[in-house]
Amino acid sequence: MNIHEYQAKDIFERFGIPVPRGMVATTAAEARAAAEEIGGEVVVKAQVHAGGRGKAGGVKVVNTPQEAEEAAAGMLGINLVTHQTGPDGVPVRKVMVAEATDIKDELYISIIVDGDLGVPVIIASTEGGMDIEEVAEKTPDRLFRVAGDPLLGLSPYHARDVAALLEVPQSAQRATAALISNLYRVFVDNDCSLVEVNPLVITGDDQVVALDAKINLEDDALFRHKDLAALHDPEQEDELERRAGSADLAYVKLDGGKVGCMVNGAGLAMATMDITKWAGADPANFLDIGGSADQGRIEEAFRIIVSDDEVEIILVNLFAGIARSDVVAQGIVNAAKETGATLPMVVAMRGTNAEEGRRILNESGLDITAAPDLAGAAEVLRDKLASAAGGAQ
Ligand code: ADP
Ligand code: MG
Repeated sequence: MNIHEYQAKDIFERFGIPVPRGMVATTAAEARAAAEEIGGEVVVKAQVHAGGRGKAGGVKVVNTPQEAEEAAAGMLGINLVTHQTGPDGVPVRKVMVAEATDIKDELYISIIVDGDLGVPVIIASTEGGMDIEEVAEKTPDRLFRVAGDPLLGLSPYHARDVAALLEVPQSAQRATAALISNLYRVFVDNDCSLVEVNPLVITGDDQVVALDAKINLEDDALFRHKDLAALHDPEQEDELERRAGSADLAYVKLDGGKVGCMVNGAGLAMATMDITKWAGADPANFLDIGGSADQGRIEEAFRIIVSDDEVEIILVNLFAGIARSDVVAQGIVNAAKETGATLPMVVAMRGTNAEEGRRILNESGLDITAAPDLAGAAEVLRDKLASAAGGAQ
């Protein structure tokens, strides 16, 4: 789960990490009042679950409360489109008004879990304020990785190493090392999957400050953090992913494909995407209905898949154990009739009540081809794609 910059900065402050003084505003008048209270030059920052705001007009440095009000009025209520959002952008409901910092140097620091090593890893770079992917590609020698230890944490000398690698001025080394240790505590204590500060700033008087703050919380650990779970802002999420989440379905949108995939189980999802590729197409999404899906959830799953405009054909790959094929089949048929969806479907069903499931599909009068297994489904899919492409010429 993603949270907003101002929420991440609240957490930072609780862990002793310096951030510029700031306030949240939901109206332009509140932004003006905040700028008056902070005084002097301030920045107005759109609060959205996406980075790249600076380049997209979502971060404005202003000199007066009047200008802060105008900047906020220009952001509140719009959908901000950045290189990290889709073409529709994400809605701006709040802005942060923060003291403008005298920036001498912009650095980068983040903590993620390294899946291969199985430990939290600190990634640091002297090239802050820009896309870290670009730094990794163009100047990989400016990127450093230092591993923590799941049991021992981050040792103080590792924190000092990172501060040294960041080439911060001598007088800021100690504060930077302390900030890195505190950032590591933020990561571990809150069960984060990502903590990122881009930029981490060295000020004109050699103070170190977190100018931006991004925190991703591990969904599977949220039950341990009720206070953090309450920070959930569903409005910032993709609508279909949000609907899937509330029906307890795992839906992932994928770029560029046209095959909607409905599966039960993550391993099956991977296999289904592989055979989709083998059949000559790309998946548009996959939707995992999980183990014990009832009919209502199957129906919602189907509605979600057909709501994705890019889907031209649906591939259902079910290995029914606890889930029953007939229940899934009936859910699909109900939802197809209800939505009036006429997309062709290829369905592979094995396991519990598979025969009954296939009978329901075959007798539904819909454009559904039931295949006995995955290999059969792959061939049907390939033939259907080929004839659709032939028909289009
Ligand atoms: P994003 O990552 O979404 O673009 P940032 O918070 O990183 O948003 O802001 C983008 C840029 O705006 C920063 O790299 C910095 O140059 C400037 N900026 C952000 N906050 C402040 C601030 N408090 N004072 C001065 N400049 C700032
Ligand atoms: Mg940033």
